[in-house]
Amino acid sequence: MTARRRTRRAGVPLAAVVILSLLTACAEAPAISTTSDSGTTATSAPTGEISISPDDPQAFTPILAHVPVAPVPFAGSDGKTHVVYELFITNTAPAAATLDQVEVIDSATGEVVDTLDEAALVDAFEVVTRTTADGVVGAAQSGTIYLHLLFDDAASVPESLGHRLSATLPDAPPERQKIDESVATVRVDDREVVELGPPLEGTGYLAADGCCDSTRHRRAALPVNGSLTIAQRYAIDWEQVDDEGRIYVGERTDPNSYAIYGDEALAVAEGTVVKVLDGFEEQVPGTFPENISIEEADGNSVVIDLGAGNFVMYAHLQPGSPRVEVGDKVEPGDVIGLVGNSGNSIAPHLHLHLMDSPLPLASSGLPYTIDDFTISGQTVSTEAFDKAEADGTPLEYTPVDPPTSHRDQYPMDQSLVTF
Ligand SMILES: [Zn+2]
Repeated sequence: MTARRRTRRAGVPLAAVVILSLLTACAEAPAISTTSDSGTTATSAPTGEISISPDDPQAFTPILAHVPVAPVPFAGSDGKTHVVYELFITNTAPAAATLDQVEVIDSATGEVVDTLDEAALVDAFEVVTRTTADGVVGAAQSGTIYLHLLFDDAASVPESLGHRLSATLPDAPPERQKIDESVATVRVDDREVVELGPPLEGTGYLAADGCCDSTRHRRAALPVNGSLTIAQRYAIDWEQVDDEGRIYVGERTDPNSYAIYGDEALAVAEGTVVKVLDGFEEQVPGTFPENISIEEADGNSVVIDLGAGNFVMYAHLQPGSPRVEVGDKVEPGDVIGLVGNSGNSIAPHLHLHLMDSPLPLASSGLPYTIDDFTISGQTVSTEAFDKAEADGTPLEYTPVDPPTSHRDQYPMDQSLVTF
């Protein structure tokens, strides 16, 4: 979790919802310090679009900002409603800007629903791609602020969100050192979240690298096909521990040592198989393979079209194990293949994510829920998980006793799950 202050009331309602940013190159730009109760539109996701009125104000916004993909709220196994998205910014000023604060605003009421302070922005902001920048966006530099809002329930999520961004440019002329701008209003995507069945059957499954903060998947913004995409935004790497909490017993480098190795990966919904890759050898566990190609990254893998623009991806299966072919219709619970360690993988696991196209990388990741599971523990930290995976020592986790039953929720990161 980021160090984030939450829920401070602004007191001043926003007068207007939005303008389209018309900021263009301007030789005689006015002073940088501008404030407006307006924002720019998110343009990529149709449901994120905001209508524009002739009366909307215009303001110079030296730091450009937009939300590339409108967030889809979903229910987590922690009982919260999560809103996960990115604010993509570009500093058009000729000087580096330190991000001081980002306030997320309910556009209808003006209420501040979340605040990222300077310390939170050091963590939440990355210059493309996967490079932290200590909260500084350099001159002519772009980057992503990763946002994760928490609400008590779905009804509490605003219909649209705006952003008030403050920054300091210490090396700019005195009259241009402070930026305070309202940008990037986005309509929350209120589509129905896809409910999936369990991808595995059994106990001791660990939801690794899951949503929603600085995990590998959540911030896997990749430059693919001309766009920066996060297909794995809500991906989970399912691993498994044995009765003693161990991820593997014996040789770390032998796939057979791992509790999950060879488990059956199951169809999570009715659908049609649209892609099957097979024939990639197992990697040696313990180290990530080097110089792996984009074609081999997912290893032996299967993509299933669930309809309505939803596609599910299974990766890193055992060679020769995919039990389906392109065109096959599958039902929930059908065996797709066996859990393996092919592709870009450091240990046998099942990578699963939902996305909006059949392309495993050039897609936008979608949230989902799983219809029925129980949670019997929570890993104490990501470091504890990494240690157990590296050393084969028992995973340090906090038991949930008795286990909690979950219906139609997304298993949060590092939950110990029984299906
Ligand atoms: Zn993964």
